[in-house]
Amino acid sequence: MPIHINKETLLKYDIPGPRYTSYPTAPIWTDDVTENIYIEKLKQLRSSDKTLSLYIHIPFCQTLCSYCGCNVLIRKQEVKHGDEYLQYLFKEIDLITQYIGKNKKIKQFHWGGGTPTYFNEQQIERIFEKVRESFDIDFDGEIAIEIDPRTIDKKKMHRLRLLGFNRISMGVQDFNADVQKAVNRIQPYELVKEFNDLCHELKFNSVNFDLIYGLPHQTPMSFKETIDKVIALRPDRIALYSFAYVPWLKKHQNKMDKVALPTPDQKIDIFLNSRDALIDSGYQAIAMDHFALKKDELAKAFDKGSLYRNFMGYTVKPADEYIGLGLTSIGFLENTFVQNHKVLKDYYDSLDNAQLPIERGKVLNEDDVIRQWTINALICQFSVDKESFQEKFKLAFDKYFTQEQDHLKQCIEDNLIAVDGDMIRVTDLGKIFIRNVCMGFDYYLRQKGAHKRFSRTV
Ligand code: SF4
Repeated sequence: MPIHINKETLLKYDIPGPRYTSYPTAPIWTDDVTENIYIEKLKQLRSSDKTLSLYIHIPFCQTLCSYCGCNVLIRKQEVKHGDEYLQYLFKEIDLITQYIGKNKKIKQFHWGGGTPTYFNEQQIERIFEKVRESFDIDFDGEIAIEIDPRTIDKKKMHRLRLLGFNRISMGVQDFNADVQKAVNRIQPYELVKEFNDLCHELKFNSVNFDLIYGLPHQTPMSFKETIDKVIALRPDRIALYSFAYVPWLKKHQNKMDKVALPTPDQKIDIFLNSRDALIDSGYQAIAMDHFALKKDELAKAFDKGSLYRNFMGYTVKPADEYIGLGLTSIGFLENTFVQNHKVLKDYYDSLDNAQLPIERGKVLNEDDVIRQWTINALICQFSVDKESFQEKFKLAFDKYFTQEQDHLKQCIEDNLIAVDGDMIRVTDLGKIFIRNVCMGFDYYLRQKGAHKRFSRTV
């Protein structure tokens, strides 16, 4: 059903706020989480039969997209950069396996960036082999890689499939030529179509397109053309992200023509029109920002309330613990977030000294765990079951969240949530403002100035 958003609601909720790829969110992590703490957590894994998600971050890109919010290093595609990085990645893998032992089961294996396909075939193969000899990769699990159609050829795609990758995620963003020029990412429709067709030919289990709304020169009309083309290509999954405009954090975003950015009204129109078009074309809106064909396992899991989310995105096969490898990568072990160094030299220096390249993290306290569970339920299931909460934490939801009652009342008044017995359900309108609904449960946003670090929710 089409959603109507009045101006008042839009103005009220268009405020800076986290995307909740983690809770507690990364800005409050500190260097209190040291290498020793990480080593202790890793050692606990040695004797356990817990399964792992493994993420590898490849930070290199050949050119900088002006909207980029990732941790990225711009380098010409030269073998030496990749070879040097591999050398250190392998040192990190050796250190990790020294503590957890070899052959731990990997249920979910994800390569992200930057641009993983920046590496040549031999380099990709060498990484894969190194992981295969150090861990036990479940080839029926999720083995995913982000590809950039501009830096990959058909031969490399064949190689990825042969190695065992079964999921592809492609950065598409927008097909409009003016938008592509404004964001310094020229990627014609024909190129995306060619690789999308190839993914189907090679029988990858699923193909995801990343799209971004809120970029310069986008209008509801122009983006409709992009969405129509995307629907025609029929990827299994679509992530439709709101552009995170954070020029105070990502200085290169200052180069964008601010005047050309769509207004909040236009952004909401673009999102709602796209959402309606996708739903009318057989996609299901699953959780925050994401759509999947109804036959896709993510859509089925969403229906059953068994969808999960971690740094690698939404999944139906959550592992017990997460290990991140490479520059800036993030892991989550035994209720502790750890993040690697963001500066390449620091990352290399740590590994030269045979130290795990940890920069910061957060050991979750009891309250963090409770709030993390609640925020995850809101984001992944669009609901919170107070009875499940009570069962899990042996606490009464309303008693525990006394300070949050005003926020909940406000959300009910504004039709963002509805309460039915023990169930808090997010309404269709609330799904648009899900970040705002979650923000009421974020303890750390109560600190002065905490909101300012984030992009706006609309
Ligand atoms: S390809 Fe992705 S990671 Fe690389 S610059 Fe563009 S947006 Fe950033």
